[in-house]
Amino acid sequence: MGGITRALISVSDKTGVVEFARGLAAHGVELLSTGGTARLLREAGLTVIEVADYTGFPEMLEGRLKTLHPKIHGGLLARRDDPQHQEDMRREGIPPIDLLCVNLYPFEATIARPDVTLEEAIEQIDIGGPTMLRAGAKNWEGVTVVVDPADYQAVLREMEQSRGGVGASLRFRLAVKVFAHTARYDGLIASHLSRHLDDPEEADVFPRILTLQLEQKQGLRYGENPHQQAAFYADASGSGLAHAQQLQGKELSYNNLGDSDAAVNLVLEFAEPACAIIKHGNPCGAAIGRDAADAFARAWSADPVSAFGSVIACNRSIDAVLAQAMTESFIEVVLASEVTPEAADILARKKNLRVLAFGDPQQWRQANAWDFKRVRGGLLLQDFDDLVEDEGQWRVVTVREPSSDEYRDLRFAWKIAKHVRSNAIVYANAGRTLGVGAGQMSRVDAARCGAAKAEELGFSLQGAALASDAFFPFRDGVDAAATAGVKAIIQPGGSIRDEEVIASANEHGIAMVFTSVRHFRH
Ligand code: 5GP
Repeated sequence: MGGITRALISVSDKTGVVEFARGLAAHGVELLSTGGTARLLREAGLTVIEVADYTGFPEMLEGRLKTLHPKIHGGLLARRDDPQHQEDMRREGIPPIDLLCVNLYPFEATIARPDVTLEEAIEQIDIGGPTMLRAGAKNWEGVTVVVDPADYQAVLREMEQSRGGVGASLRFRLAVKVFAHTARYDGLIASHLSRHLDDPEEADVFPRILTLQLEQKQGLRYGENPHQQAAFYADASGSGLAHAQQLQGKELSYNNLGDSDAAVNLVLEFAEPACAIIKHGNPCGAAIGRDAADAFARAWSADPVSAFGSVIACNRSIDAVLAQAMTESFIEVVLASEVTPEAADILARKKNLRVLAFGDPQQWRQANAWDFKRVRGGLLLQDFDDLVEDEGQWRVVTVREPSSDEYRDLRFAWKIAKHVRSNAIVYANAGRTLGVGAGQMSRVDAARCGAAKAEELGFSLQGAALASDAFFPFRDGVDAAATAGVKAIIQPGGSIRDEEVIASANEHGIAMVFTSVRHFRH
């Protein structure tokens, strides 16, 4: 058990530090501290030795040099059980420092300011702090290093229980946290400074150097297939699937997680109660409804065969009625903003069913987050496709205008098409999908697949709406839709054969809207 006689405290974020220092002092720990921190602790009535007095060397260079002194770093780095180290320390008159409490200049908050200059950012690069942290963490067997105010309590609790000492397991955990922290800090610096490598006129939204820090949230039994190993990592955003709470059920698999993400992304397109049923990354049924139970029933009815073993998301809470309906079918995963206590009791009867609550929908989408695709040897980066649809940009290109019902269906189908793998064609009416053509290599095949699906399920596409995630390159897709009975189409437009495509729509009495935005999803 590492006993603590001397602590050095030097923090920029002063949250909780007075209470922590008071706790240490109560164990008879001698406190060393830098200028601003020392002042604060003294004002709180604590006895503090300034680092400048301790080393006999003043703080200088406007704070760039405060703790960079052998008496500090020797005290942190010397091995407690090494006779040579101890001899060196005795000879130079360097006492050990057993606890280090440091958090760094607020570099991240500084660069978050849109108007920050390079000089301001550079001034916020902490030098002494990370140096001490790394020294203490390297010597974790002798030093307790606390970089996060959230850990103050755990340290004091352990000292309470262990007559002033901190155990090896907590010391090691805190040391690992320090290296993760300083790595992230330096990553942010490299990334921010790399933006200034470019001509400011051409400043890119993406930094030249990107460092990512992700923390393992859970190991997975396997990846997409049983012979692939896999794990799930969370980013630092505190949002999205990595932060949804699993309330019950079997462990989530790699494929469950991918489908869960797709399901929630889809339902969050809608303000009204909506439900998405996902299989292999694509919606096999999606609907809006009076309430969550109604939306679920309608989405399920869109393709009950494919819905077997699906992943389902609702953008509302699950109540008892919906929970009951859900227990009547085989479902892999259910996600909703919340689950009422009565619904939780009902779902609990299906022990294996995985149930997740994702909380506030606003939290799902994180500003400035990036979407990645892994390719061998690198990553492709892009914004998430979170574009807010501007219907002001929509343009009716046919003789016939869509009726208001058709507009409602087009709007619905367009939102769904964005979440279907390209080439994507979605048939819908009255706020429900009727047939989805997904992931085809030609658009006409996607149109035929979706129509065949609808027919197989016994739906009539007479008067239905169709959405296409990207333009029709030829009139054949429109002709196929017309044969199926479609009367309204929404698509981006922009093909060199638009005229031919519009002519086809006019011939068939179809009302067609161009959005001028496309939503590929590959
Ligand atoms: P204080 O508010 O106590 O004056 O300063 C605390 C901050 O100074 C902490 O964020 C700590 O990491 C940082 N710090 C401590 N020693 C040094 C040093 O030698 N150089 C620099 N640049 N920062 C230091």
